[in-house]
Amino acid sequence: MYKIILILVLIYIAYILFFGKKRGQKEEKNSLHEELMVECAACGTFVAMSEAVRKEGQYFCSQTCAKAKK
Ligand SMILES: [Zn+2]
Repeated sequence: MYKIILILVLIYIAYILFFGKKRGQKEEKNSLHEELMVECAACGTFVAMSEAVRKEGQYFCSQTCAKAKK
């Protein structure tokens, strides 16, 4: 029984290490993505793409603007 727990713990550690690394690489890509600024189609404010609200192919600075454009 003890061996099974040990194996499970080792698999868990390997899993964390593997996916932890992968997640780190993803975050790097995301931070590059965040630097892209897009213009709000409603009010013209520039907002980071990651924070922008996308609707019908257009970017908005907030949900309020996205709704206002309609
Ligand atoms: Zn706006």
